[in-house]
Amino acid sequence: MQQISHDTLFEADRLPISISPQVAENMDRILTSIRQHLRMDVAFISEFLGSGRMFRTVDTAHPVAGVSAGAVLSMASGYCQYVVEGRLPELIPDTSAVPLALTIPETYALPIGAHLSVPIRNDQGAVFGTFCCFSHRAMPELGAPELELMHIFSRLVARELSEDVTRDRQHRSKINRVHAAMWGGDPKIVFQPLFRVSDGAVTGVEALSRFPTLSDTRPDQVYAEAHAVGMGGTLEMLAARRAVALCRDLPDELLLHINVSPHTLMTEDLRKTLHGFDPRRVVVELTEHDPVEDYEGLILALHPLREAGMQVAIDDAGAGYSSLRHVLMMRPDVVKLDVTLTRHVDTDGLRKAMAAALVEYARRTGTIVVAEGVETEAELETLRELGIDEAQGYHLGMPEPIGELLKDMN
Ligand code: C2E
Ligand code: CA
Ligand code: CA
Repeated sequence: MQQISHDTLFEADRLPISISPQVAENMDRILTSIRQHLRMDVAFISEFLGSGRMFRTVDTAHPVAGVSAGAVLSMASGYCQYVVEGRLPELIPDTSAVPLALTIPETYALPIGAHLSVPIRNDQGAVFGTFCCFSHRAMPELGAPELELMHIFSRLVARELSEDVTRDRQHRSKINRVHAAMWGGDPKIVFQPLFRVSDGAVTGVEALSRFPTLSDTRPDQVYAEAHAVGMGGTLEMLAARRAVALCRDLPDELLLHINVSPHTLMTEDLRKTLHGFDPRRVVVELTEHDPVEDYEGLILALHPLREAGMQVAIDDAGAGYSSLRHVLMMRPDVVKLDVTLTRHVDTDGLRKAMAAALVEYARRTGTIVVAEGVETEAELETLRELGIDEAQGYHLGMPEPIGELLKDMN
């Protein structure tokens, strides 16, 4: 028997979808039962990957060289594409009677005497791949009932796959959106000033990302999507690099606050990103909405930068999540009160009590407290009474491009 030559082995145009273990097991079971029932030599499910196709699951009576789960072959070398295009019939009891089949390399390589193949389509009619059986010898006895059985099983496979396919489509769409934004020049960086409450002096600026390409999506949602598909670190570092580059003309006494998630700090080299910017002028704001599992790793990753003078702030303190634990574990230089605590702090006793507690904690530990999202003079006045060190918010200064901010400050 001839083997499938290596030049038919193929680099796929796109990645295969990830199939959950339970679905894979069910597909195996389906393949075995159909192959045994039809007395075929090989049954397999292929996934189309652009100009390649991948054997997802294979069931054989005896091993057939080149036909194994995970192998990717070119579309052109086999039957699948011709069947989907309608150029070959789904049912071929005897390949020697079909001229086009005799031009396909696999007919001789495997060899294929009889072939059954039906497309696996989702609800919208899109083709996932094919559900196929073949035997080495011709099987003139194959007919409409066998083909009908293949169709029934193919629909079963499609139903099994539908959740994984949907999940995969959503995953790809997130990746595409983040890519599109990056190609479109996003993130653009704006800066919001932080003010010392006692004398109103500007102490620094916080870099915030804007995504004009994805105008229907809030920045924190874009970051959440990016993190969900493993691109969060890339995006955060890109934003940080741009922020640093834009702050070359920032007056020396002002600090630059950048937002970075703990996961990114542990996987990316922040020191490289700072690109020579004096670490003593940088405050990294740790934003984390999921519990940190490896505090030791995080503390270790931050150690050299903190040694070099970089400050650490805990963002969104008091917002729930894990932020108070975060404060205890990280011993930050700065704690930023979440906007939900600032809002109506002048009229809401509970919020005021919570803010006061954090100020007390900060006083005892030598930590600076910043209130975010200050929108009214009354909120600011109450925060001043409570002893908050710094404040940030629309009432004091909007996020804006660096040029405009520097103009406003002069
Ligand atoms: P955050 O770090 O807590 O940033 C503060 C948010 O409050 C910003 O929203 C800011 O525009 C907004 N804000 C400022 N003053 C006020 C105010 O007076 N009232 C109200 N209601 N909001 C105010 P923004 O820019 O939409 O960012 C949302 C979140 O997205 C940020 O929350 C941060 O978690 C994330 N984010 C934004 N830019 C970046 C970035 O470059 N990197 C990373 N990792 N995360 C970012
Ligand atoms: Ca922040
Ligand atoms: Ca916040």
